[in-house]
Amino acid sequence: MKSSPAGDMPAKEFREEGHRLVEWLADYFQWSLGNPVLSRVRPGTIREGLPSIAPEEGEPFERILSDFERVLVPGLTQWNHPGYFAYFPCGFSTPGALADFLSTAVSQQAMLWRTSPAATELEELVLAWLRRALGLPEGFEGVIYDTASTAVVHALATARHEKAPEVRTRGLAGRGGPAFRVYGSEHAHSSVDKAVITLGLGHENLRRIPVDAEYRMRPDLLAGAIEEDRRAGHEPLAVVATVGTTSVTSVDPVPAIAEVCAGQRLWLHVDAAYAGAAGILPECLWAIEGMERADSFVVNPHKWMFTPFDLSAFYCRKMDLLRAAFGLTPEYLKTSEVSDARNLMDTGFQLGRRFRALKLWVVMRYFGLEGIRARLREHMRLARLFADWVDREPGFERVAPVPFSVVCFRAVPSGAGDGDAVNQFNERLLRVLNDTGEVFLSHTSLGGRYVIRFAVGNIRTTETEVRRTWDLLRELAGSSGASRSSPAGPRPEQPQE
Ligand code: PLP
Repeated sequence: MKSSPAGDMPAKEFREEGHRLVEWLADYFQWSLGNPVLSRVRPGTIREGLPSIAPEEGEPFERILSDFERVLVPGLTQWNHPGYFAYFPCGFSTPGALADFLSTAVSQQAMLWRTSPAATELEELVLAWLRRALGLPEGFEGVIYDTASTAVVHALATARHEKAPEVRTRGLAGRGGPAFRVYGSEHAHSSVDKAVITLGLGHENLRRIPVDAEYRMRPDLLAGAIEEDRRAGHEPLAVVATVGTTSVTSVDPVPAIAEVCAGQRLWLHVDAAYAGAAGILPECLWAIEGMERADSFVVNPHKWMFTPFDLSAFYCRKMDLLRAAFGLTPEYLKTSEVSDARNLMDTGFQLGRRFRALKLWVVMRYFGLEGIRARLREHMRLARLFADWVDREPGFERVAPVPFSVVCFRAVPSGAGDGDAVNQFNERLLRVLNDTGEVFLSHTSLGGRYVIRFAVGNIRTTETEVRRTWDLLRELAGSSGASRSSPAGPRPEQPQE
């Protein structure tokens, strides 16, 4: 259909294409089950499959969708496949996807209250729901950012504004004085590194504090590092504690860290991007213990609360300070609304804001807190089941506790020792496992050991995919059923001593 010289797609066509799209997606969710989780395309394939210049004439939507299916679908790594166990799975649910479509279709941009009262006030409401579900005090005001990476930049910038408000005007160079220091454990996420780089604090001013045998920050060593830095003339600024570290999902001892921060007057930001969601389970309250003493914390419903990427819930008990750090209203954005109307543009460096709250609201209403809790519990049960199989299998070992839904393990072929050969074996094992196309897992490194991570978090995952992963692993590692040929071709070679 040739597009008319002005105006949008005709209403009749929108209705037809919208129906077609939903039908297509419903089929796709079925079709995807039998297709590779990790995309198999080679770099450049997608670019080469499509014209390098934009069409002069409009094209029918049907043809565009057909090209999407033909060229782009093979390049989709299927984050919403039930066999997806890599990194932290992406929050996904079909109600969440429908809400995202709705949000885009009603086209809201919530920079000012008046540019979207609905988006502004729903954001406030839904963040209060989540905060209450976590049992945290009302003193925490929330704002939705795209990611936890953005949240930590805002947390550290606000901490800096509290200590040195003149930086806003004069910059760090204008301030002079000692270098600010930020602390996180050896396992804190790389977004903390990027935040100190972004804020001009200097990468070398992020101090990595050693962890205990269960990968949790050592508060005694944190206190020691702060003292040492003060003696050396630095200015300790903030600590980032992690609830659910990226590699092993360990939980830093937040109450003890909060004690250190209070004594030293340091900002405490808690990165609960992944495991914060577990705080809505009464049996996991231990994980968020002490979070009420933080200055700020972040939880990512797009990681483990069935909310499609992206939606990161940031809470701060000094949001007015954050507003002072970032607030700036050019003439054209001045409005006459006074009262208690809040403008979301004041809560960060970003002006425009998507209507993200809608999808979290829909997800929380559609599943209900009990429905979300049931799904989180099921994911934790599946992870424990998998961990139990690993523990009972002589050719494998688990290398970290399993507090939530991630299992870190590796194959230990008999007589292989503990060197590079075992690492290479596991690397190959992971590659051939992922090459089967049935599942997708990722890895980490712990104390020089190459470790495979099995992360349950996808709403579509059931015990069937968990068992299948384990069967494939045993088969491919050759520790059981090795005589059977693997669907992926050759098994990884046994390490040479
Ligand atoms: N914090 C932790 C503990 C993470 O594991 C991750 C990503 O996996 C992040 C922060 C960054 O998350 P985002 O992609 O929302 O920036």
